[in-house]
Amino acid sequence: MSARALLVPFLFLAPSLVAQVEAAQFEAIRAEGFEKSRVMAHLDHLVNRIGPRLTSSDNLTIACEWARDEFAAMGLGDARLEKWGEMDVGFNRGPWWGRIVAPIEKELVFGTDAWSAGTKGPTRGPVVLSPKSEEELASTRGSLKGAWVIAVPSALLTKVADAIDAEGGHGIVATTRDHLVQTSGNMRITWDKLPKTVVVRLRKDLYEELHAMAETDKTVEVEFDVQNHFRKGPIPQFNVIADIVGTEKPNEYVVVGGHIDSWDGASGTTDNGTGTATTMEAARILMAIGAKPRRTIRFMLWGGEEQGLLGSRAWVQAHKDEMDRYSACLVHDGGTNYVSGIAGMKEMRPQLETAFEHVLQLGGDLKFAIREIDAFRPIGSDHEAFTAAGVPGFFWDQAGRADYNHTHHTQHDTYAAAIPEYQKHTAVVVATGALGIANLPDLLTRENMKVERRFGGARGSRRALGVTLGDDGVTIGGVEESSIAAKAGMKAGDKLLRIDDASVGGQNDLRRALATGGVEKSIVVLRGGEQVTFKVKFER
Ligand SMILES: [Zn+2]
Repeated sequence: MSARALLVPFLFLAPSLVAQVEAAQFEAIRAEGFEKSRVMAHLDHLVNRIGPRLTSSDNLTIACEWARDEFAAMGLGDARLEKWGEMDVGFNRGPWWGRIVAPIEKELVFGTDAWSAGTKGPTRGPVVLSPKSEEELASTRGSLKGAWVIAVPSALLTKVADAIDAEGGHGIVATTRDHLVQTSGNMRITWDKLPKTVVVRLRKDLYEELHAMAETDKTVEVEFDVQNHFRKGPIPQFNVIADIVGTEKPNEYVVVGGHIDSWDGASGTTDNGTGTATTMEAARILMAIGAKPRRTIRFMLWGGEEQGLLGSRAWVQAHKDEMDRYSACLVHDGGTNYVSGIAGMKEMRPQLETAFEHVLQLGGDLKFAIREIDAFRPIGSDHEAFTAAGVPGFFWDQAGRADYNHTHHTQHDTYAAAIPEYQKHTAVVVATGALGIANLPDLLTRENMKVERRFGGARGSRRALGVTLGDDGVTIGGVEESSIAAKAGMKAGDKLLRIDDASVGGQNDLRRALATGGVEKSIVVLRGGEQVTFKVKFER
């Protein structure tokens, strides 16, 4: 008899080791998740068949309906769409291409903002250097007709755009910050005042090449075809919800989810097709093995995340009276790297250790760890809608070989970026963790739970404005004393519009705009109907 066998009776007596997921059940989850995985099939349909899923686009509605139908086909209860809001103007993007046609031929890599104007068909014209001052603009009236205008000074952007529209120019050629073509955009447009000027952002190296050519040669011509389309709203926006109803406490919940919307410069794979696919696969696995959780496991796919957690916040607000019955919210929105851990308050550790017992012992190279934090801090995803309402909201720790920044909102966010073995692994961990938390004797403890609500201001962030933002994600709710924002003169009620040339549509944009580029930023806000610009400088 081995020493190990002698220990067995004691293990059975130790109450802390009562399994929340039976060993046999975990084996079934593993078998289903690793041997019969559908996670890449979900992803393939979502990002290759449907495509990118900008909030307000037809694609997002199609994706929500598809996901709901998939949940229903798996046998989940009451798979449904819940409306969270409406968009005044919809935006759908068709294909786009561009090239230099003279004096050489060269294909161009570029993007345009979401909710921005497109060309009406292929549009060819000379590349003309922008006027550099208002005087020059006035004295060269008429010169922009039929032109693509390059090197527009940012202070003159609006005036040059107006001149292009008035004179019949084709549009503006701008640059990206680096080799990544990032997509963002401002959804706050109205049907009676749609954006008119086409602005193409060329990948920086191509922009510099074209700019240099235009400075020395008057015969440079380009052609762009950008099929951007506006659609008149109101366009209803939805979250997708489906339940595995709890056997003992059906009115208590564990939420598993991620946002289903995306930016539309590529196919929205790692942000957040991957998290949508693991959410759906976790549901499929648990249904396939016949899991009977004690509490209800609620699968949710939110919309409007990229515009400031709109879908999740609206949903939590609409259901705020129930939030004390939500044990936890688990959000997968960190790309295709495998889920490598979960971070909670130290008071939560015993329960998390129990819930993740099997995952912690899962062999192989992909490890899982429970980490202690002293507060839940914002990082810009839907779990924050829940932590704000007092529900422990987790954003999985992730690790692996994928470079999230390479694909995040860039031209490279395509299906090829997804790593199948990580996706499978994550779905198994998510399914197991959700079942484990749902089966705990009690709701996850909220003892001493601290939630840090500042963003762009969280401790540890080197570039912090020190402001809180309202639920729209752009209106400043409060300014921290002695913060950079306070010193610059920003006030509660100011509405963030732009940081340098990047529009701010929510906290994610804010965080990204602050984190990238030089230490000096110019921040444009709307105050009492007027645009006010603040110059701030970070230490590094
Ligand atoms: Zn995301």
